[in-house]
Amino acid sequence: MRILVVGGGMGGTIVANNVARRMSKEIRQGKVELTMLSATDQHWYQPGLLYVAFGKMALNDICRDQSTLLEPGIKFFVDPVEEFELNENRVRTKSGVVHDFDLLVIATGCEAIYDEVPGLEKASETPYTKHGAVKMFKRLREFEGGKVAIVVGVPHKCPIAPIEITFMLHEFFEKRGIRDKVQLQYTYPIARIHNIENIAKWAVPEFERMQIDYETFFNIKEVDIDNKVVHSEEGTEKEYDLLVAVPPHRGMPVIEENGMGDDGWIPTDRYKLTMDGHDNVFVLGDTTNLPISKTGSTAHFESEVIGENIASIFRTGSATREYDGKVYCFIEADQDRATNACFNYIDPPEIKAPTKSMHMLKMSYNQWYWSSARGLL
Ligand SMILES: Cc1cc2nc3c(=O)[nH]c(=O)nc-3n(C[C@H](O)[C@H](O)[C@H](O)COP(=O)(O)OP(=O)(O)OC[C@H]3O[C@@H](n4cnc5c(N)ncnc54)[C@H](O)[C@@H]3O)c2cc1C
Repeated sequence: MRILVVGGGMGGTIVANNVARRMSKEIRQGKVELTMLSATDQHWYQPGLLYVAFGKMALNDICRDQSTLLEPGIKFFVDPVEEFELNENRVRTKSGVVHDFDLLVIATGCEAIYDEVPGLEKASETPYTKHGAVKMFKRLREFEGGKVAIVVGVPHKCPIAPIEITFMLHEFFEKRGIRDKVQLQYTYPIARIHNIENIAKWAVPEFERMQIDYETFFNIKEVDIDNKVVHSEEGTEKEYDLLVAVPPHRGMPVIEENGMGDDGWIPTDRYKLTMDGHDNVFVLGDTTNLPISKTGSTAHFESEVIGENIASIFRTGSATREYDGKVYCFIEADQDRATNACFNYIDPPEIKAPTKSMHMLKMSYNQWYWSSARGLL
């Protein structure tokens, strides 16, 4: 059986390692061939970008050589896929190589895009890219006070990030001793301050305690850079001295170019994690069109289901497990405290008061991630 994993980020790496361990014997015997194709030889722990933006981690703390994270038995090539020929069970790469498969796993992720919001890229700071995170920290250190507007594009990965960024800004300026000179103004595109109701309910009193202003129904339309004003689709505006953006995202262009999903989001069965109309194609992580959080934790839990199902399909001819929508997120608060949110398709999260120990756990996870990517956690 030929198993092909496209994408060497969080989802692709965890699923490939999961399959490699479950099927190590079959791989050694030559009954199973497991191949990974990625666009880069590096593996970035993207949640670490948030800490880079606040000077708590450096870029080289959050990057590893991808080949060091993979189990023996996985053939790894840096050669991005350009054509998916799903009806023929094959893909064609940038270098022109054709890979045939029996089972395909797609985990190509998504990326920040700025082309729909004039002025946003030039005007704003963001932790969502490597360059952006480094630049944001420099800007935060130099900032002497004024209006800080936080604007949020949709959809975006890591839905907790807008709130975390805001809490971390509060804490950062407090530690610098200039919080009284900074007016924090959070905006959010829908009717409450977070799309998950219980998170919104928990965050409102926290915002009020930290004296953070907020405005809902604020969908970014354009940024008037000369006058330092953000205009919303709703007709309101926010003045800023420092603009921090969670940019809107799209799936990778290769997905839409191959007619596999509008804006790069692949239509995916929410339980089986297969691509609609293709039972031998699994999809996970940010590139699915599932209405759940685009997080590494989602990709992790999906990987376990897909890994088990791939082994089961090989051994028994059918899949055995379904994904229940499980997501687990840490939420950084202020004063070196954090809380967490655990939920699935049915049960919403219950948010507890932030604690220092939860923050320490998150800081530890930032180091343990590499074991998690290898599937050891
Ligand atoms: C600032 C920030 C904070 C975050 N915080 C958290 C957090 O606290 N908790 C959490 O769980 N998640 C967090 N996330 C989200 C998390 O990083 C993503 O949800 C996760 O990386 C998604 O995994 P993925 O495998 O779908 O995509 P990615 O990890 O992005 O991997 C995609 C892979 O596909 C490859 N690829 C792309 N195109 C091709 C192609 N054509 N052919 C082959 N390979 C290709 C890329 O090179 C890459 O290796 C955060 C993200 C950011 C940016």
